[in-house]
Amino acid sequence: MLNETQIWQQDELQRLNEEFEAAYPQDILRWAVDTFDSGLAVVTSFQPTGIVTLHMLSEFVPRPTVLTLDTGLLFPETYALMDALEQRFNLNLVRIRPAQTVEEQAATYGPALWERDPDRCCTLRKTIPLDKVLVGYDAWIAGLRRDQSRQRAAVPIIGWDRKYQKVKLSPFATWTEEMIWTYIHTYELPYNSLHDQNYPSIGCYPCTHPVDPEAQDRRAGRWANRAKTECGLHVADPT
Ligand code: SF4
Repeated sequence: MLNETQIWQQDELQRLNEEFEAAYPQDILRWAVDTFDSGLAVVTSFQPTGIVTLHMLSEFVPRPTVLTLDTGLLFPETYALMDALEQRFNLNLVRIRPAQTVEEQAATYGPALWERDPDRCCTLRKTIPLDKVLVGYDAWIAGLRRDQSRQRAAVPIIGWDRKYQKVKLSPFATWTEEMIWTYIHTYELPYNSLHDQNYPSIGCYPCTHPVDPEAQDRRAGRWANRAKTECGLHVADPT
């Protein structure tokens, strides 16, 4: 049940979505910075769309606030890229870590929880930690695109995130993977070297696998051979 504030937001967000549908992402980002100021954070795992987001933001934000989930289970290549981008874009980078280390989690829940109960593992290592940090912000920017998977085919550019009770922006919702890579190569931006080894989408190493280069679902390597397709950060929103 929506409260009055959220009903107003639904109307306003619908109007903004219509306005933003043909807008350049840089204009959407500028609007977000002007509107939310220090209440705005980018949440990224440094996938290609996140890198383009940071490059565009850095053109007019001297020190962008960026939140990233350091689950303790990322690839070495991801940690190296994180460090490089922090320096290059002068990021105010917040590395969000779970309450328990991987070893502590194993002692509490048993080893390799991701194999037995990946939803619980993602809740402990991703959604709960992000929830605690996002409390301090009014809006967040994600790197969702409609071409990434069937589950993301209707992603709005701006919406009300029911899970975290924030405005959520996906400025690149209408962009394709090809557009993102053209941008990265044009500006010679750094990217995760695993993308060149058939990993189109990269998360924690136990749950990320290479995929057929021709695969339509660019997230097929995430939780491969499981029904799970999302870590729980992104739920379908009505707007
Ligand atoms: S992606 Fe895998 S290892 Fe990472 S938090 Fe989720 S279940 Fe755990």
